[in-house]
Amino acid sequence: MAESTENQFETGTVVYDPASDSVGEYRGTVGPYALLRPVGGGREWEARPESLRPATPGERLSAGVRAANSRSSQHSPEPPAPVRDCAACADLAGLRDDARARHDGSAETDADVLLRRHQLRYHAPLLGLRESALVPDAPAGAEYETACTECPAGSGARRHPADVEAWRHGHTRETGHARYRRTVADYAVYESQVSVP
Ligand SMILES: [Zn+2]
Ligand SMILES: [Zn+2]
Repeated sequence: MAESTENQFETGTVVYDPASDSVGEYRGTVGPYALLRPVGGGREWEARPESLRPATPGERLSAGVRAANSRSSQHSPEPPAPVRDCAACADLAGLRDDARARHDGSAETDADVLLRRHQLRYHAPLLGLRESALVPDAPAGAEYETACTECPAGSGARRHPADVEAWRHGHTRETGHARYRRTVADYAVYESQVSVP
């Protein structure tokens, strides 16, 4: 299977290097070595040119997926940002900031989860997941509700998340019930999709 080792691959060809069991982009030669770079960028390494072969489609794909994953994991700690003019976003981001300020990690995670859930439900179009003309109805504000899942009790719709939390705290103290369903609602305006000439 030995072939000529000189300029065996074009620059940018994705090749498999058995010595490092890695897939990389062929960058050229340095002396007797081939220079490879991780797919998606990173530190280059030297390989024996005669041992390289073109990567299979499966190897190229998994190297690309790894590169994409490492890119996105660099960004994943980024918490969701509140959407402008949305009262629910502002409240939930406020809860999260309060929790962070008092180093309450689990409350911070809770607020993040609520914020993500709320945004997925109400802002998916604004966040680019789908085309639509849904916008928050800022003057209407938001509503919060917590319902016990161990009995029929519930907070009812409240204007501020702290009121809901106070109800929940009291209910847990009185009954020992610990499981709740929490919802955040806001009001939205669907602007008519009239095309502008
Ligand atoms: Zn919102
Ligand atoms: Zn209960």
